[in-house]
Amino acid sequence: MKISFWGVRGSIPTPLSPLQIQNRIAAVVQRVTAKDVTSADAREKFLASLPEWLFGTVGGNTSCVELENGQGDCIILDAGSGLRELSLNLRNRPGHSSGGMTYHLFFSHYHWDHLQGLPFFGQAFDPRNRIVFYGTEEDLRERLNYQMKPPFFPVPMEGPMGFRASLEFVALSPETGPLRIGDTSVFWKRVNHPGGCTAYRFEENGKSLIYATDTELARDDFLDTDENRKFFSDADVLIMDSQYTMDEALEKTGWGHSSFSITVDFALNWRVKKLVLFHHEPTYTDKKIFSLRQSAEWYREYAGSSPVEITIAREGMELTL
Ligand SMILES: [Zn+2]
Ligand SMILES: [Zn+2]
Repeated sequence: MKISFWGVRGSIPTPLSPLQIQNRIAAVVQRVTAKDVTSADAREKFLASLPEWLFGTVGGNTSCVELENGQGDCIILDAGSGLRELSLNLRNRPGHSSGGMTYHLFFSHYHWDHLQGLPFFGQAFDPRNRIVFYGTEEDLRERLNYQMKPPFFPVPMEGPMGFRASLEFVALSPETGPLRIGDTSVFWKRVNHPGGCTAYRFEENGKSLIYATDTELARDDFLDTDENRKFFSDADVLIMDSQYTMDEALEKTGWGHSSFSITVDFALNWRVKKLVLFHHEPTYTDKKIFSLRQSAEWYREYAGSSPVEITIAREGMELTL
């Protein structure tokens, strides 16, 4: 399985402002010395020495993660604004540029930040393609149509100018499952979020990924029940909502998101190998978000003995299982 991150921010797209970009350039210029520009190698070395929050960003797009399984199936998790970036990338990718592809698009839920990229998913307008939508709501089709109706969007989703790909809508019920896509098994579980949200687990060749965005972890999620064990335990990668600092999570109890610290507790509890902190708070700067990894690692040392690896989700990041 290959996992690619196209949107990692929570709640609303968060582009860098002109002032933020100016401040970064100014901060880089302040650090540079004459010896850093003596050759191309020296310039490369200087740039590589800069902190990642200064010479990089987690990106400003909202939730969209791509999963390519061993058979080359294209599985997409959520349709936040990052879906547009994925769509543009697919246009130039071998095998995708000539149409005739199937895209499997899973929705965690239907808040704007998980849906707003859908009208810009160019592959859905190509009649040679097939799009299969998955969600745990019986009215999945109506929900997706509703958000593109005028006055919300000028082109209705299933109208003559809308999505001309062959469309399928699969409402996943709690009783059914797992689902199979190629050699990949897909499991799902409802999680705690205002209006509800669904987490997904993907397994292939003994490797597993859990995508659990928009989740306010609670005591029940840590209980050693059959259902929890089967869904949460021993994942190779867990992509998890960790929107808040500890202080902010206390202020925002009931908002439907978790702190990085409880996310670390959760990963330790379920013996996760790699934890990806995801759904970053839009008011946090890159500097603050990257610093959360250090805080999460300190917290891990304090909280447990499991060697869970912790990383910060950022646009363009790729993981291979
Ligand atoms: Zn969200
Ligand atoms: Zn939400």
